[in-house]
Amino acid sequence: MFPDFEQTVKNLEALHLRRQLRIVESPADTIAAIAGRELISMASNNYLGLANHPAIKHAAIEAIEQWGVGAGAARLLSGTMPPHQQLEEDLARFKHVEAVLTFGTGYTTNIGLIPVLIDQDGLILADRYCHASLIEACRLAKAKFRVFHHNDPEHLETLLKKRKKDCQTLVVTEGVFSMDGDLSPLPDFARLCQHYDATLLIDDAHGTGVMGENGRGTPEHFGLAPQDILQMGTLSKAIGTSGGYVAGTASLKEYLINTSKAFIYTTAPPPAIAAAASAAIEAIRNAPDRQQRLWDNRNFLYAELKSMGFQFTNTESPILPIIVKSPETASQMSQKLFEAGIYVPAIRPPTVPKGSSRLRLTVSSEHTKGQLREVLATIQKVGKDMRLI
Ligand SMILES: *Cc1c(COP(=O)(O)O)cnc(C)c1O
Repeated sequence: MFPDFEQTVKNLEALHLRRQLRIVESPADTIAAIAGRELISMASNNYLGLANHPAIKHAAIEAIEQWGVGAGAARLLSGTMPPHQQLEEDLARFKHVEAVLTFGTGYTTNIGLIPVLIDQDGLILADRYCHASLIEACRLAKAKFRVFHHNDPEHLETLLKKRKKDCQTLVVTEGVFSMDGDLSPLPDFARLCQHYDATLLIDDAHGTGVMGENGRGTPEHFGLAPQDILQMGTLSKAIGTSGGYVAGTASLKEYLINTSKAFIYTTAPPPAIAAAASAAIEAIRNAPDRQQRLWDNRNFLYAELKSMGFQFTNTESPILPIIVKSPETASQMSQKLFEAGIYVPAIRPPTVPKGSSRLRLTVSSEHTKGQLREVLATIQKVGKDMRLI
């Protein structure tokens, strides 16, 4: 039987968990035009302002002129064009790995990767807070799947010790957690994986372009050799475009080209998007001041909000989640901020655990100090009105 569509949505509404689309009538930027108004946006993962950057747009427009709009076929048929190949080379150089394979989105990268990495005799151990695309991918895999406590090397070690002998094991975590903004203890996990002969896979969707001295991601931040960790990521956040990738060895790339259904049975991404992503990587390499501005903004906003008395996660990134606990409070606060000209989304279950609903602010290098001061003044006022501080 089909579910009752209307009743399901009504039930969610009663629990303050209904989700609705909002039309943003402007490019991804620090100002969002919504419902005829202009709001300061703290809602985008466009950390470095590259989604609407003139040089990146220009690269896409030029590539459309040269290569057209659609790729016309899957990568293995006639869909692989020079911009696709160039992007994979650029990403491999940027990530300091042997080879990169790109996919249509970050979501499908996880779906296309994890099920072919490990067979039914193996074991997958994933952090409890992993992104929905990782959890879906782990469920899709035939291997046994267990979760470990968030960022808890001791619990991971307990599970590794309990394994059957010679059981192939994949450990899955994120570099920067998307809803908490905290970092996984990668050096501890890398050491455990080496000791217990497991493979470590990290999803660095929010780390790439943000973490590490050169923006190469969370492994660079921790000084870990990229060869010791299998990485995937997305081109849709700091890189400002669209698509996903796996960064690893040349033999893994060849294997995925031959086995990964989410790579094989889908049309190649538009060549102009690949060209734009290459231009974005170039921009990150050439303008480290962008990353500096991102961190200056992030540190300023976080310090001020903390001193006001708001409760946060253990964030160490430009993702700043204010914990308000109930979904009702989160929705109300988001709505009040919206009315006052600030766009901050409310994040509620099932995206985050029950009792930890939050306002999730994301900072960009392109926010001006003036914008951030306005955000601070408004959040302080709304927080006081709602007796949160
Ligand atoms: C956003 C995100 C993805 C999905 O990437 P898309 O390119 O948006 O499909 C995967 N994993 C994590 C941790 C994410 O935050």
